[in-house]
Amino acid sequence: MNVVKQLYQLQEVDLKLESAEQTLSQIASQLGESQVVVKAQAELRLEHQQLEELKRQQRSAEWEIDDLTNKIAANEEKLYGGSIKNPKELTSLQQEVEALKARRNQLEDETLEKMSQVEMAEVNIANKSNELKGLEADWQRQQQQLSSEMERLKSIVSELKHKWDSLAASINPQVVEFYSELKKKKGTAVVKVEQGICRGCRISLPTTELQQIRGDNLVQCSSCGRILFLP
Ligand SMILES: [Zn+2]
Repeated sequence: MNVVKQLYQLQEVDLKLESAEQTLSQIASQLGESQVVVKAQAELRLEHQQLEELKRQQRSAEWEIDDLTNKIAANEEKLYGGSIKNPKELTSLQQEVEALKARRNQLEDETLEKMSQVEMAEVNIANKSNELKGLEADWQRQQQQLSSEMERLKSIVSELKHKWDSLAASINPQVVEFYSELKKKKGTAVVKVEQGICRGCRISLPTTELQQIRGDNLVQCSSCGRILFLP
């Protein structure tokens, strides 16, 4: 096999390697924490904190209602117990009881409102927990797929490297080095010649160059410098 064809094959292996390595680095960037899951977890934590705050407010209102109920009972006992005879004092006590009852009504309304807020928050948390479980399961599945795809690609890369080594071993090391340097500079080092045109720079090659290529020589395009390969 002539050396240019061997270099062309070496380059095909190189291109496959580059593509596999690029996919590998894309996969590597997708492995790890999911922003969507992290965000959903943070939101759920916040909802829990808000629920605890609502419950705390509800409990504190309930305690105040209990206090007021005790005060009202004590005052009503005084009011109807007959121990107070002074009409002014009675009226003032009556007013005090009414004020306490008004405050208690207001608190009872607020407590009802809090209770319905607590219920809503609990339903919301249950829904969000389910959503989060779904997201976490999806993410885990995706991570597993990525990991197995990564393993598959790693074994392809190692096969390709092996192939590269055995191909390169049958070519003069200086030629391999020349090819590698050229590939580094140009992206592709070996290009096909089709209908007398260099596929690297799309220029029509002079007849003398075409004749040299047919002679199985390693010929570089006089325009772009790439190695010319006549398939
Ligand atoms: Zn060219």
